[in-house]
Amino acid sequence: MGATDPPPVTDRMSAPKRPLVGVTRRLPEPVEAALRERFEVRGPDTQRALDSGELLALLKECDALLPTVTDRLDAAVIGAAGPRCRLFANFGVGVNHIDLAAATNAGIIVTNTPDVLTDDTADLAMALMLATLRRLGEGERAVRAGRWDGWHPTQFLGRRLTGKTLGIVGLGRIGRAVAKRAEGGFGMKVLAWSRSKRRGSEAGTRIERVSKLDQLLEASDIVSIHCPLVPTTRHLIGRPQFARMKADAVLINTARGPVVDEAALVEALETEMIAGAGLDVYEDEPRVHPGLVGRENVVLLPHLGSATQEGRVAMGLRALDNLVAHFAGQEPPDKVN
Ligand code: NAP
Repeated sequence: MGATDPPPVTDRMSAPKRPLVGVTRRLPEPVEAALRERFEVRGPDTQRALDSGELLALLKECDALLPTVTDRLDAAVIGAAGPRCRLFANFGVGVNHIDLAAATNAGIIVTNTPDVLTDDTADLAMALMLATLRRLGEGERAVRAGRWDGWHPTQFLGRRLTGKTLGIVGLGRIGRAVAKRAEGGFGMKVLAWSRSKRRGSEAGTRIERVSKLDQLLEASDIVSIHCPLVPTTRHLIGRPQFARMKADAVLINTARGPVVDEAALVEALETEMIAGAGLDVYEDEPRVHPGLVGRENVVLLPHLGSATQEGRVAMGLRALDNLVAHFAGQEPPDKVN
């Protein structure tokens, strides 16, 4: 057979059909290339999120879906999807946008991308602490607006991060990575409260676990949220919790917006129940509560927790690992249901 001859008909017929993976968003180029090497890939060629009709159409025709945080995969969508798709290989560690019970009932495996975004998200939490306490947003806005008239001794005085008490809500991968930075880099005292409600010092660290959330709120200069959004953590931090916090404390949220009651946060800021907030996530993204936008003592980021080039490629390749394992008939390494 010459080099340019087509393969014999029998070979062409027996070539295994590659699984079709639906990808809901454009991903970093190396991830898209790696996906195309292994699978047939279908997805949008624009940067916008799919609307619910487009999402359902993609779901119906693919063998697996690679969704992101902006895709709402609720019971209605899963129920209408038909039998073909058997895996949601989520691009991200948080899976609150997927109805896990509905997926499980429909026989759909859900996976996420833990670990590879831990350091980036912890770095961003530290950046928000510094930005909020040291008034970086205010200073930057003043320089850009031409309102800066030179150094003077009482200008934009913030507060020192070093040595403060940090309260971590949800001591998992990211919570621990934040604790390590806070203790090792900033000499902070670290308290933690988590679902397991363990008490006492955490082995191998100087983290002090408290059994009641109120204890942490009352003692912390900075409260940083790192638990997932699940029914029991929705509005975990609301009016009663702000009332427990110190008047000069700040709230940092890099987890999920609805863990914090945003209307109560605005009220707490307006009434000076707390001194500021650093937010990466919001209750109804991309909408930001109008009571936050105009406030100088609030730092607002557009959901950047894992947004590094290295992290986003690693997340994509981790989702790919789960797809490859699934289609090889193995249990995907990051199964969450
Ligand atoms: P993780 O390792 O699973 O840690 C979550 C922690 O929250 C665990 O320590 C767990 O406590 C605690 N927890 C779970 N359910 C709870 C409940 N009902 N009440 C109180 N605490 C509870 O997850 P991770 O990798 O650190 O990620 C944490 C979250 O960060 C994700 O779910 C995601 O929503 C968010 N995130 C955001 C960004 C961003 O872009 N801003 C990026 C990455 C992740 P126990 O250990 O006691 O069980």
